[in-house]
Amino acid sequence: MLSCTAPVHQPRSLAEALAQRAVHPFATVLAGGTDVMVYLEGGALKPTAFLDLWRVDELRGISTSGGVTRIGALATWTDVASYAALPAALRDCARTVGAAQIQNRGTVGGNIVNASPAGDSLPMWLVLDASFELRSWRGTRKVPAAEFWLAYKRTALAPDELLTAVIVPTVTGEVRYRKVGTRLAQAISKVVLGLRVSFAEGRVSEARVAYGSVGPVPARASAVEGRLVGHPLTEANIDAAVAALDIHPLDDIRSTADYRNEVARRVLRAELIAL
Ligand SMILES: Cc1cc2nc3c(=O)[nH]c(=O)nc-3n(C[C@H](O)[C@H](O)[C@H](O)COP(=O)(O)OP(=O)(O)OC[C@H]3O[C@@H](n4cnc5c(N)ncnc54)[C@H](O)[C@@H]3O)c2cc1C
Repeated sequence: MLSCTAPVHQPRSLAEALAQRAVHPFATVLAGGTDVMVYLEGGALKPTAFLDLWRVDELRGISTSGGVTRIGALATWTDVASYAALPAALRDCARTVGAAQIQNRGTVGGNIVNASPAGDSLPMWLVLDASFELRSWRGTRKVPAAEFWLAYKRTALAPDELLTAVIVPTVTGEVRYRKVGTRLAQAISKVVLGLRVSFAEGRVSEARVAYGSVGPVPARASAVEGRLVGHPLTEANIDAAVAALDIHPLDDIRSTADYRNEVARRVLRAELIAL
């Protein structure tokens, strides 16, 4: 049975949470707890204290104004799935995180800061040109998703900072999400693809292609993007773009590098052909 005697700090406002974070930079931040509890149960985490954000209402909610959607760090996957102003592909992504229990409790902020290479949402923030609002007692800064995940499970978050929101600009083009796992629910991904393509005068004018689960951090496939932009989306151009994919996945308990390589190409090709 899980037994843990670390003290739990439970701020009721963002100001209180930031003040407590400044004093307890090594406390384990707790949002929905769906990742943290697994680490605790498995013995991978030996917390000295917890900073439980669950009662900080300022971190909840999703709103849109001025062409930008702001997703509070404590927004759950159920919240994201039901927010119609977000791209349908992001709402689809939300519906693939775990199953109903996890979607009701797991948060956007937890998925981002947990920084698992297999975190389903991570490639989507890259293709949506999202940025993350990070706050501490020192102030607020905005970090583009492309600069947030530095290395395996290492992020740009400073010890005294909290992730407070995700800022998603209203983007143009077709957005797609594809997760390949063992099952349709409760499956950790083997390959995740995020895709966004805009067109002008019959040619691709902007392309974003990002993968999760195929490297230590989620990353854009810039060679593929470069091969798509400026060209019409013909079968020959799609094949050339897919051939430009340069990823180096690893073998692990969920899959082999060969499988990931093959599937990453197949899903990209299929999604581009379907546009
Ligand atoms: C059965 C099961 C199935 C799952 N399936 C999936 C899946 O299909 N896809 C997937 O991507 N994930 C999956 N997960 C993982 C998890 O549910 C998600 O990553 C979820 O979004 C985590 O959110 P949380 O609020 O529970 O995070 P928590 O566990 O509370 O926190 C996760 C990490 O982020 C930190 N943190 C959280 N919020 C903040 C913040 N605002 N500021 C700073 N640090 C913060 C915590 O300290 C911790 O290190 C699954 C987990 C379980 C147990």
